[in-house]
Amino acid sequence: MKLALFGWNSQRQQKFAAYASAGLLPGRVVGEHRTHFRVATEVAELTAEITGRLRNIAKQRSDLPGVGDFVALQLSVGDGPASIEAVLPRSSALIRKAAGEQRPQLIAANIDVIFIVTGLDGDFNLQRLERYLALVRESGATPVIVANKIDLAADLAGVTKQIETLAPGVALHAISARTHASIADLEHYFDGNRTIALIGSSGAGKSTLTNQLLGRDAQATGEVRSHDSRGRHTTTHRALFLRDAGGAIIDTPGMRGLELWNAQHDAADNFEDIEALAADCKFSNCRHESEPGCAVRAAVKRGDLDQARFASFPRSSQSTRR
Ligand code: GDP
Ligand code: ZN
Repeated sequence: MKLALFGWNSQRQQKFAAYASAGLLPGRVVGEHRTHFRVATEVAELTAEITGRLRNIAKQRSDLPGVGDFVALQLSVGDGPASIEAVLPRSSALIRKAAGEQRPQLIAANIDVIFIVTGLDGDFNLQRLERYLALVRESGATPVIVANKIDLAADLAGVTKQIETLAPGVALHAISARTHASIADLEHYFDGNRTIALIGSSGAGKSTLTNQLLGRDAQATGEVRSHDSRGRHTTTHRALFLRDAGGAIIDTPGMRGLELWNAQHDAADNFEDIEALAADCKFSNCRHESEPGCAVRAAVKRGDLDQARFASFPRSSQSTRR
């Protein structure tokens, strides 16, 4: 394994100099679990844990390592996990700020370019695109707009004009994720082993495009079945995928539903996200309990709406809503 394939370069090596002289090893977090991380290093992919010291100096949860972070590792003497001693300064950080949550959460770090995927079918929505753009700019990554499902576009010229007016200077690619040929325009964003992430609403075509860009089935690789020491199946949550053709794609569960989380991060105590979803419930007086066609429960099931946040949605607000 070569860390350069994961985006390790001379600038990062420079920032690492002090850690290197302390005998630490550089690595990149490729998977996050409840109790540990998977970290790619020059020699192998390792299991690593956060040190108590690092946990203590973290001012907020987003200071702790997450997927995409470059870290300084102390290898264990025996068979145990390595320890993450430090997180290198991030070139970008995609953060989830949820109304119900006090502490911002890191979704992924060191993403170079974020593809904002939007469908050119009936799903197209300019306000939503604007919110995604704000989110990407806040992260420090470079936004690229990928207008997908060109085959279903009713008015390509009109939509293109709208997007260009909204986001002057932002690269725009109109493609069909279903055909391999049309993704050729996106390949160069991976040059220099850069890291890409895809965001966009559910159904926009992110999984289809991810599979095309990886040249294999990301959904299948997303949940790798492996054996633990007792021979049982365990599920490993990989979130950073290397492309055979160079570069990497970060795809974490937290990236789904990002828009809903951040759309209302200024309002501390409202439920705009749930209200917005409820607009699509089959019944206008839906209580999101057991009614058929409930868009809110469907969003929870898809993972677009956090179960805990749904649970915190007050009963009173539910019944007086309409
Ligand atoms: P995601 O939720 O953003 O990951 O979206 P998916 O990748 O699962 O795609 C949603 C649906 O749109 C699937 O049925 C895809 O086959 C379809 N789809 C994706 N790209 C295209 C496209 O370029 N044209 C058409 N017609 N359908 C597409
Ligand atoms: Zn409902």
